[in-house]
Amino acid sequence: MKVIKKEDLKGFIDGLIEKGEREVVGVKSKDSKYVFDTLEDAEELELDYDVTILPPKKYFMPQRETLVEYKTKKGIDMEAVNEVIPRIIIGVHPYDLEAIKQMDKVFADSPEDYNYSEKRSKSILIGVNMQKTSEWSFAGSMGNATIDDGYDLMLTDLGDKYAVEIGSSKGRELLDEGSLKIRDAEPEEIEEVENIEEDIKNKFEKELDFSPEKLPWLLAQKYGDEDFWEENAEDCYSCGTCNIVCPTCYCFDVQDFNDISLEEGERMRQWDGCMLEAFAEVAGGENFREERAERYRHRYMRKGRYLYNRFGDIACVGCGRCSSQCVPDIADPTDIFNKLWRDKDE
Ligand code: SF4
Ligand code: SF4
Repeated sequence: MKVIKKEDLKGFIDGLIEKGEREVVGVKSKDSKYVFDTLEDAEELELDYDVTILPPKKYFMPQRETLVEYKTKKGIDMEAVNEVIPRIIIGVHPYDLEAIKQMDKVFADSPEDYNYSEKRSKSILIGVNMQKTSEWSFAGSMGNATIDDGYDLMLTDLGDKYAVEIGSSKGRELLDEGSLKIRDAEPEEIEEVENIEEDIKNKFEKELDFSPEKLPWLLAQKYGDEDFWEENAEDCYSCGTCNIVCPTCYCFDVQDFNDISLEEGERMRQWDGCMLEAFAEVAGGENFREERAERYRHRYMRKGRYLYNRFGDIACVGCGRCSSQCVPDIADPTDIFNKLWRDKDE
């Protein structure tokens, strides 16, 4: 573990911005909320935030991107497109780092998604241990209050300095760039980081009443209880906001956009969400999840069961973004998951 003074870290970040070799992104405040955005100056960086509106997944899987450009004048001429911008992303909380680890697995699954993986490989993630928690978050219950890997560097605020843990060779090489004033941590500083990481686990207002490993089993039990899902989905607007803000939701729709000349066009993908009515509609107008209760159930099944069965992870990291953004306040996973626990068959 290393230690760097806060003013030296600022100077280091300003140096990276000035060099311009990579886009430097960090957490900034915006209208009393927080967002990941391009930094023009290290002064803009806010590392003691609670949660950002959107997770950093937007840098690896943009809301809308072109996958292929094609021309049709002389036969079909297609070219794969991937706009990769090398980036340093500063201030990622542990639950978002866990979500990125999960997305890495999903997009590496055969066939590998190069539009995602090339953007990921050109990014450097600088995490930060949480100082504040969102009132909606239950990351502690999901085991994501802290994290041991998934970052290139991890910062912990120690007053006028940061402890810096090195998580990868990319992180080490970044520290070697420029003349950074950094030193080895003293034993009491290492202990202070351990205490901070221990304390944060107890700072969440929301929690699960049981261990998250039980979720696949609880959800399997509840699948056929239609009254339960209808009752809980009654006020749902099918707006899809809970999908859009979720760091582990990755579904997208692909469409071709032909030029009016019919001689060229592009194939694009954009974020989609299983809570939207048209999500499971197929050619001919058949919709496999026409009712909102079916869509509502599907979202929870994905989070706690289907993706666990396929990749071994509970696909909810406990960030609380979905519940904080849901207008009728029915998207809080702790509400549904704790109800499942109370209703379980012994
Ligand atoms: S649960 Fe809430 S955020 Fe999600 S689709 Fe329904 S109304 Fe929208
Ligand atoms: S389901 Fe909600 S709490 Fe869980 S990771 Fe997604 S947005 Fe965060």
